[in-house]
Order: sequence, then C-alpha cells, then structure tokens
Amino acid sequence: MPGPVNQIAALQVDGWAVRLARRLWPARCPVCREPAEDGLCEPCARALPWLGPACARCAAPLAGADGADATCGDCLRRPPPFERARAAFRYGFPLDRLLPRFKFHRDLACGRLLARWMLAACADAARPGALVPLPLHPARLRERGYDQALELARPLARGLGLPLRTDLLQRVRATAPQSRLDAAARRRNVRGAFRGAAGAPRHVALVDDVMTTGATLAEAARALKRAGAARVDVWVCARVP
Ligand SMILES: [Zn+2]
Ligand SMILES: [Zn+2]
Repeated sequence: MPGPVNQIAALQVDGWAVRLARRLWPARCPVCREPAEDGLCEPCARALPWLGPACARCAAPLAGADGADATCGDCLRRPPPFERARAAFRYGFPLDRLLPRFKFHRDLACGRLLARWMLAACADAARPGALVPLPLHPARLRERGYDQALELARPLARGLGLPLRTDLLQRVRATAPQSRLDAAARRRNVRGAFRGAAGAPRHVALVDDVMTTGATLAEAARALKRAGAARVDVWVCARVP
C-alpha cells in the first residue's frame, strides 16, 4: 500500500495530468471509436467471438465437441505435428479490425488487449516448459520494426510465469505471404522455412496471432521437434474456421 504522502502526491501529479489527458484525448474503443473506459466499448466487447467447442488438435470450431479430446476429421486423417492448439477466438468481427491494426499499423495497445484475452483462453492449458513466438524473417522484422508474435508472447509469458524463448526457432527463409495461396501451396511455400536450435525443453508452445490452415505453425513445430522438442502445442489469438 502506498503511504498517505505518496497518495497525496499521486493525486496532485497523476490526478490532474490524467484528468487533463482524458479531456484532451478521451479513451476510445479501438473498433468503433465510441468512448470506452478500458479496452472495448460494451457492444464491441459483447460481439467478441470467443471460440466455443473446437478440435483439441487444431482448434477448428467443432459443433457438438465435448470434452478436452474431441478431434476433427482432418486431424484424425492427417494428425498435425503439434499436439494441442488453443485459440481465444474464431476469426471475425471485431478481430478483423483489431488484428490488422496491431499487425500492420503498429497499434501496440491493441496487441496488449489481444494478449490479455489470449491469457484468459490459455490459462488452463497444459503448461509448456517455454513459449516460443513464431519468428518473422529478419528482413521482414527490419521493415516492420516489431514482431507481432513476440508482442503477444511476452505478456503471456509474464502473466503465466513461463520462460519466453526466442532463441529456439529461427526463420531461415523469407516466404511469400500465405494469404492468397490454397492449402497445398501454403505447405509448399513454408517448407524448410524454419530451423530449430538445440536446448528446447521437452514441451513448448508456439505463439502466433492467427491460424488459418496451420501450415506455417506445422512447419515450425516440425523444426522444433527435429531440434529435440518432444511435444509442441500452438497458442493463437484467432482461428480462421
Ligand atoms: Zn466499440
Ligand atoms: Zn482438428
């Protein structure tokens, strides 16, 4: 508890400064720009598409899935190299506003909000020995100036008390954007894109912002396993169904 002298100082210094800042720049909902106290306004917060029943392996929405081991047909036919996938949300409104703002427009406040929701979604997941953010290629990182997966993984690691390891996985090949490719082309596009480093704990979780087909995360999981990880999980903010 701060002492009374500190409290008075805080009222005098922070108090007027914060009130002035609020008057000049009232806090706004990052989705609809209506006034909002902390994060989203009420209607936008209610619209958040929290992921419901889903496949335990790939986090694809799975109607009627019950229990922690429900697996979709795709994962039964062709099990992914990761063991479990967690997503906070199905991709859709308002994530289709928030994630691009964070990823392409450097809105790091948006990123902190997204990380807070991921923390809630991953809090009861099996505890890995380390979190590994999906790395950008160094050339991409230079042009963007920040790494969105690292910005999400850092507060998650802090919040859950897990080691953050950026040394275990490297992107050794720049790849074309996946967004315009079909599933098979995505797999070819990312082949050999990552290299794992020795020294991974047995169980790690890869962190990224969005999972679509999972081709990139699968390739990264393979690289970590080649380097010695026995189990790789995947934690993402949003899953594209
Ligand atoms: Zn709003
Ligand atoms: Zn699945």
